[in-house]
Amino acid sequence: MEGRHRQMTVRAITAKTIFDGEQYHSDSALVWRGDQIVDIVAAALPSSVIVTDVGDKMVAPGFIDIQVNGGGDVMFNSETTADGIDTICRAHRQHGTAYLLPTLISATPEQMKTALIATESAIEQGVAGVIGVHLEGPWLNKDKKGAHDANKFYSPTIEQLEAFPWVERGVNLVTLAAENVDTQALNWLQQHHVVVSCGHSNATLHELTTEKRASLNGFTHVFNAMSAIEGREPGVVGTALMTDHAWCSIIVDGIHVAPQNVLMAHRLKPEGKLLIVTDAMASVGSKTNRFVLDGEEISVQDGKLVNSSGALAGAHIGMDQSVANAIAWGLEEAEVLRMASTYPAQALNLNRVGVLKPGYRAAATVLNCDYSAYAVLVDGKLNP
Ligand SMILES: [Zn+2]
Repeated sequence: MEGRHRQMTVRAITAKTIFDGEQYHSDSALVWRGDQIVDIVAAALPSSVIVTDVGDKMVAPGFIDIQVNGGGDVMFNSETTADGIDTICRAHRQHGTAYLLPTLISATPEQMKTALIATESAIEQGVAGVIGVHLEGPWLNKDKKGAHDANKFYSPTIEQLEAFPWVERGVNLVTLAAENVDTQALNWLQQHHVVVSCGHSNATLHELTTEKRASLNGFTHVFNAMSAIEGREPGVVGTALMTDHAWCSIIVDGIHVAPQNVLMAHRLKPEGKLLIVTDAMASVGSKTNRFVLDGEEISVQDGKLVNSSGALAGAHIGMDQSVANAIAWGLEEAEVLRMASTYPAQALNLNRVGVLKPGYRAAATVLNCDYSAYAVLVDGKLNP
């Protein structure tokens, strides 16, 4: 009865500015019932509506981060449990993220199975914020391994792919080096609705055949851990930027990719095909600023995450700061907000998230004037 009563309660956030993903509404209210948006209205609300006024702050579609390795001192690789996912989602809500894909860095097949099962169970238990899983590797190229353990890399067979307990209640996204995965395996993934993104790849244009490119939905953290553009060879970077049907995710911390290259990617990609990811690690929302990956200690030094040899190992940034950066570098505010919400939803072929429209899931990010996160609405629940 309690649950039923709560479903019926109508709530609203009133704000000076609401951006619905397409248009701005001034001095309006975002109204929702249960976990679903009712409307955005400028008129006075009935007294039965429970209203939270956020004053001069801005309400935007809830941010969606499709690459989150950890947060709140937890690495998904170390805690492949529903509790681990919950901790990561909570940490990223402090930075404006409504929904995310916990992202497993190249692991053993056993760990991958555990991660898939944990994600399924987190969604089933109603852990707020989790909408699927991202397996980053281990089907990668050792020449572009980044912080991954190349000993775990292999090229999957159909039988191996079939053996994984893929998530049924959410999205499955994999990052793979397309040159190391054969066409049959790529086709199997496509047929089973796994979203496929090319990354940690050293492919030449020649290796990324038309057939292989057609089976790719996107490219992971463009510019990072992929073969560069050269005069006679577009590499994965050039191919990613010029493959119109495929999206590119990009890290906008100002460390992984030069701001000028973010602007270049935005100029080259068709509308809606460049989206922000954090690639965040356990240090986001952390008390210690250090964690362990594959037995190696990673720590924050001068805002960078580095391993013992000084190599970059993921990003120490939240979605809110990423958005602030992209706007500071010259991209239009509305476009940057879409790059953090609408476009990632489209990249994952998700319905009912990514914009603030009637019938959509009640998810919104409330931003302070400097774009730092003030609050996050996830499935009708306002945090904090
Ligand atoms: Zn990576």
